[in-house]
Amino acid sequence: MRLFIAILLPEPVREALSELRSGLPGARWVEPEALHLTLRFMGEVDAGEAEDIDAALTAIHVPAFDLAISGIGSFQSRRRVRSLWVGLGRSEPLERLQGKAESAVVRAGFEPERRKFKPHITLARLKKTPVGHVGAYMETHGTFAMAAFAVTGFTLMRSYLNRDGPHYETLAKYPLHGP
Ligand code: ATP
Ligand code: MG
Repeated sequence: MRLFIAILLPEPVREALSELRSGLPGARWVEPEALHLTLRFMGEVDAGEAEDIDAALTAIHVPAFDLAISGIGSFQSRRRVRSLWVGLGRSEPLERLQGKAESAVVRAGFEPERRKFKPHITLARLKKTPVGHVGAYMETHGTFAMAAFAVTGFTLMRSYLNRDGPHYETLAKYPLHGP
């Protein structure tokens, strides 16, 4: 099974982000209920490994914290814009939680992640969208910001890569504790 660790977003945040889901031809918008912030992607694991990851994540104890969303960015490769995302304000508690998730996964027997953590919430995947359209979209929405929201937990997610796009299932929830 294909697993990753994520922070899911509260309903009002998903609703606010839904306002960004238009005005870009060729974009495949992430369904509001699927919007998430990935802390760690493990990829394909077997049932025993999934149990070890779950046990290690259960041992994480960090206080709940607030997270601010601001700005829109993109990932590019081979001179094309591949995805659009909303960014997160720099957050020490978020980095601490991500660091703990990373160590938990390593403790469960996985290789450390080599890429630097770049927190983002993917809004859309793009196929052959002309750069001009992306530029116009950015001009309208690029400075998007909204009130901070409370992160009260994180989740172990399973991903199914279907022909009509990815589908995510929550396998386990790990509540954070009062600040
Ligand atoms: P698709 O791959 O079809 O575009 P997806 O990326 O949403 O869909 P997955 O590839 O299963 O689905 O990824 C699940 C989550 O993990 C996504 O948030 C994705 O951005 C993130 N992710 C995937 N690969 C990595 C990676 N190598 N490093 C960090 N995060 C990753
Ligand atoms: Mg992917």
